[in-house]
Amino acid sequence: MSTQCEAFEPRLGTLADGELGEDAAREVKAHLLACPECAGRLDAIRSLGDAIREQAPRYRAPDSLRASLRASIHGAAALSAGMDESPEVPSVPGIESPPGRLPSTERSSDEPRVVPIGPGLRIVPRRWLAAAAAVAVLLAGAGRVAWIAGEASARNDVQAEEVLASHVRSLIGTHLTDVASTDQHTVKPWFDGRLDFAPPVYDLADQGFPLAGGRLDYIGGHPAAAMVYARRKHWINLFVWPVDGATQSAPAWQARRGYHMAQWDAGGMRHWAVSDVNEGELQTFVHLLREREPTTAGSVSDAR
Ligand SMILES: [Zn+2]
Repeated sequence: MSTQCEAFEPRLGTLADGELGEDAAREVKAHLLACPECAGRLDAIRSLGDAIREQAPRYRAPDSLRASLRASIHGAAALSAGMDESPEVPSVPGIESPPGRLPSTERSSDEPRVVPIGPGLRIVPRRWLAAAAAVAVLLAGAGRVAWIAGEASARNDVQAEEVLASHVRSLIGTHLTDVASTDQHTVKPWFDGRLDFAPPVYDLADQGFPLAGGRLDYIGGHPAAAMVYARRKHWINLFVWPVDGATQSAPAWQARRGYHMAQWDAGGMRHWAVSDVNEGELQTFVHLLREREPTTAGSVSDAR
């Protein structure tokens, strides 16, 4: 890269963002006309930006978080307004304020009042500092909550994609089941010795979801049991694998590319049910399973 190019390079990103001043932009553009290398760099920056805008997942903060944040800010504002009633004199350590110029005696205005007390020294009324600090803490907290939620949600998203891919794969090939049987007493023991956990296998034929068999699968780096159930001419894959420290959770529902999916934890195991049956039918199926499932990790093996 020439010295000239090196000087222009840091400004390419700013130009791509449309944030370069008019004169500087003109200068960079003139260079771009003469320098295919820098023009190429700008193209790369732009396509990266486009790719991120198009493909990066975005998470909207839930309404409940917005509401509680708003309430907290109002609460903090009320609290700091209350603090203003304090007769205590606001002070900066080591700095003497001239008498009669203290903000606590000047409460009429809502504007942040800055009191000059000497060359370069100012007192910002304490209530404003308190309110600003409270808001900063709340925003930092909310950002963290949103980030954690986003992180968990992204992980869940990856898992959902894997589960869906596995479901679809099981249907397009000839590998829907490793053991084809409508009998839970055939399917359940088949998993023995093939997995180090005992997946739940139920007979739901009377409820309209006959068992079709079982299959070994692999999701997110875990060996998983896939139980296959039929619903009219549709298939439901139920994926199960043990998760350390899994707590009981109600099913979380989602639709992806025409499939319905439910995910929940029970009995120390992660469960995913996926199918192209309608949502109501999948809900019935999940409900039937959950009625039969043990709720603790211990009782899974007891139930065998
Ligand atoms: Zn250049």
